[in-house]
Amino acid sequence: MISPTASLTRPGVPGMEAPGMDSLASLDKRHLWHPFTPMRPWCAEDHTPLMLVEGRGCLLRDQFGNEYLDGNASIWTNIHGHNHPVINAAIIEQLGKVAHTSFLGFTHDPAIRLAKELVELVPGGKLTRAFFTDNGSTAIESAVRMALQYWKQNGRPESDTLVAFDHAYHGDTLGAASLGGIPLFKGSGNDFGYHVVTVSCVEELASLDANRIAAVIIEPLIQGAAGMRLWPQGMLKALDRWCVAQDVFLILDEVMTGFGRTGKMFACEHEEVVPDFLCLAKGITGGYLPFAATLTTERVFEGFLGDPSEGRTFFYGHSYAGSQLGCAAALASLRVFRDERVLEQLPAKIARLGELMRDLPAFRQCGMIAAMTVDGPDLSLGAKICLAARKHGLLTRPIGNTLVLMPPLCVTLEEIERMVGALKAALAEVM
Ligand code: PMP
Repeated sequence: MISPTASLTRPGVPGMEAPGMDSLASLDKRHLWHPFTPMRPWCAEDHTPLMLVEGRGCLLRDQFGNEYLDGNASIWTNIHGHNHPVINAAIIEQLGKVAHTSFLGFTHDPAIRLAKELVELVPGGKLTRAFFTDNGSTAIESAVRMALQYWKQNGRPESDTLVAFDHAYHGDTLGAASLGGIPLFKGSGNDFGYHVVTVSCVEELASLDANRIAAVIIEPLIQGAAGMRLWPQGMLKALDRWCVAQDVFLILDEVMTGFGRTGKMFACEHEEVVPDFLCLAKGITGGYLPFAATLTTERVFEGFLGDPSEGRTFFYGHSYAGSQLGCAAALASLRVFRDERVLEQLPAKIARLGELMRDLPAFRQCGMIAAMTVDGPDLSLGAKICLAARKHGLLTRPIGNTLVLMPPLCVTLEEIERMVGALKAALAEVM
C-alpha cells in the first residue's frame, strides 16, 4: 500500500515548465472564469497561474514540479490526504459497476449503506433520515426548504421565518446566500422569497416571536468564512435549549466542521446537541467528489407523508443527487476513519498545531482549524502572506487578513511543523 503521506514520486525542477503548460495557462486566461477570483490580475500577462497536477497525502505538486503542503485541505474538503489508496480503490470499483444513476424514484446499494452509516454516526438516534445533494449550499437549502414546508403543511403556516447569525456563511446559491451575514458574499441574493432575521447572540432570540420562526441556523462552534470566529463555549447548548423549548427547528451547518475537523466526528458532539437538521458536505467523501447530505428526524420525515394528491411530497432534488460514485467515496472515507483510527490520533496533532501557533497575533483554534489575524490598514496583507508562503512550500488561502491552517487530518506532526514554519517565514518576510 502506498503511504498516503509519502513524498510525491516525481520531484521536478523548479522553473522548468512541463511541455504544453505554457499554452494551457494562456488558454485558461482566455476561456476560464474562476470562483472568488478577481479575474483582471489573474489574466494579466505577468501572472503565472498555479496548476496543481498531482497530490499524495498532504502534498500537492504544481506544473513546475514544486511541492507544497496543502494547508487549507483544498478549501476545507480533504480529510485523509490526496490519492488515498482506499478511497481511490472504492471509486474505481464503483466505476466498474456504474458511475451514476438517477436517485429520483430509484435507489442503489451504496446510498442505502451510506444513509445507515451516517445516521448511526450521530449520537442519540434522533436523526434517522438522509437526503442527498451535491454541495454544501444545497445541503443547507434542502434543510431550509424542508423546515419551511414542514410548518406550512403541519399546522403552523405562520412559521415562515429563518433566523441566522451575524457574519454567518451558508453557501452561495441564492437560497443559501439569503441566510448569510457577510455582505461581500451575499451579492444580490438577500431576499429570496423567505424571511430571514439576523441575530448576533442567543439572548436576542428572546425578543422574537417564536411562533413565526421555522428554524434557526448556525455554524456550530466556529464561523468559517467570517474569519474563523469562535462562538463562546456553551452557546450551542443554550441555542439548542431555546429551540427545544420553543419548538423551533435547529439547523446545524457542519459543512466545514463535520468529519473530524473539530476533533470529534461532528462539532455538535462537543456540546451534546443533536439538531433537527444536520448539513454535511465538503469532507463527506474525504474531499474527493461533490456530494452532500442533510440528515433529519423521523418527525420531519413523517410531516411529508400523505397521499401524493395531497401535495406533501418534497419536490426538490438535483440530477446528481445520491451519486453512486459519491456514495462509494463517502463509504470508503468512513472506513478509513475506522481502520486508521483517525479521531484517536487527533488530540496530539491539535495540541502540536496550537503549541506552534499560539505566539501568533490573534491566534485561535478549534480542533484542526487554526487561525491568526494580522493587523494593518493594508487589506491585501493576507493575500501577500499566502503568496510568500508558497515559496516556503505551503498553500493556503486568506480570509481578508486572517491566515488559516486547516490541513487534511492525516497530516503528520512533522508536516504540521513544516506548515507553521512556512507560515512564520512568510509572515516575517511580508510584515
Ligand atoms: N456552509 C459552510 C459553513 C461553508 O464553509 C461552505 C463552503 N465554504 C458552505 C456552507 C457552502 O458549501 P459549498 O461551497 O459546497 O456549496
